[in-house]
Amino acid sequence: MIYVHVPFCRSKCAYCDFYSLPRLELAGQYCETLLAEWRSRRHETEGLPSPATLYIGGGTPSALPRPMLQSIIDALATPSMTEITIEVNPEDVDSEFIRWITDTPVSRVSMGIQSLRDDELRIVGRRHTAARALEALDRLASSRLDVSADLIYGLPAQTTASFAQSLNAVLARRPEHLSCYLLSYEPGTRLNTMRSTGRVREATDTEAEEMFTHLCQTAADAGYRHYEISNFALPGHQAIHNSGYWDLSPYLGLGPGAHSFDGRVRRYNPSDLKSYIASGGESFTVTEEENADERLNDYLIIRLRTAEGLDLDRFENLFGAHNTDRLLADAAPHIAAGRLNMTGRKLQMDPDCWLVTDMVLTDLIHV
Ligand code: SF4
Repeated sequence: MIYVHVPFCRSKCAYCDFYSLPRLELAGQYCETLLAEWRSRRHETEGLPSPATLYIGGGTPSALPRPMLQSIIDALATPSMTEITIEVNPEDVDSEFIRWITDTPVSRVSMGIQSLRDDELRIVGRRHTAARALEALDRLASSRLDVSADLIYGLPAQTTASFAQSLNAVLARRPEHLSCYLLSYEPGTRLNTMRSTGRVREATDTEAEEMFTHLCQTAADAGYRHYEISNFALPGHQAIHNSGYWDLSPYLGLGPGAHSFDGRVRRYNPSDLKSYIASGGESFTVTEEENADERLNDYLIIRLRTAEGLDLDRFENLFGAHNTDRLLADAAPHIAAGRLNMTGRKLQMDPDCWLVTDMVLTDLIHV
C-alpha cells in the first residue's frame, strides 16, 4: 500500500485541518522531490503484503497540472496493483479530465461533494456549486472508473431534510462507494472561529443522530453495505486501500504530511512543504513515539468502527492474554446490553448501535 500526499488546494475549506496550501506555484518542485523520495524509499515496499494499492490524496491531487500527476502515476503504479485511487474535487472533473484519467491505470476516483445545497457549500467555503458536483458525478458515473462520493452531515444550516436531499441525489447516480462523515470543528480552523464568534451553530447531538440514522437506513435501502462507521459500499466495492489501514496493514506514505507504518513502527513526514523540498526527498521521515497503551487503543478504535469487528485471537497475539481478559471484562456490560456482539472470537458493535460507538470505546480503551 502506498499513499501519496499532495499538499495543494486552490483555497482552504473552513472546516479542513488536512495539510494543504494554496501554493500551486511550488507544484513542480514538490513533484520532483516526491519522485526523489520514492527513489530513495521504494525499497520499503519490498515484501509488503498484498494487495498492492496506490492512493493519491491530499489536498487536491486533481489541482496538480496533468503532466505532474501523470509522472506520479507513471512512477508509482504497477500492473499488480488491485486498486489505484485518486482524490478529485468537482471543479476539476471536466470532459478533458475524464479523457485523460480513463487512459491512466487509475481505477477509482474519490470525490469530495460534501453537500448538494449551494447555501451549505458556501458557508463552509467549498469552491464548487451543487450543479457542478452533479455534473462531475454524472461524468464519472458514465466512465469506467469506480466512484466514491464524500458527503458531510451536521453542516451549519443543514437539516435532516436538506441532508436527505443531497444523499438521495448522490445515491441516484449509484456511486460504488459512499463516505459520509459528521462535520467536526477542529482547533485552528476557520469554522472553529466561526462557531466561537456565533457565526455558525453546531448541529446538536439529536440533529446529528437523526441525520446518521437517516443515512444508515437510506444507504441500506439503496443496497449499500455499511462496512465501516462512516463508509458504505455496493457489494464488491469496499475500499481496498482504506480497509488495509483498518486492518493495520503496513503502508508507505510519501509527501509532506504523509504517514507510514511498517507493521511495528509508525513514522511521518512533517507537514512542511518548504523543508520537504529542501530535503530533496532524503531523510525527511520522523519516528512517532507510541507506547503500548496507545497502540492498543488505536487498534480497538479502528477495529470496532468496522462491521467486521475485532478478532480476539489477533488481539491476544498483539497485546497478550492479560489485555484480552481485561477487554472481555470491560466489554461484558456492553455485550449484556446488546451494544456489542460476540460471534465466536469476534467482538463487533451491534449494527443498531453505531451511534454509541464512542461511548462504548470510552469504557474499553486504556487511559
Ligand atoms: S479541498 Fe479538501 S483538502 Fe482542500 S481544503 Fe477543502 S477539504 Fe481540505
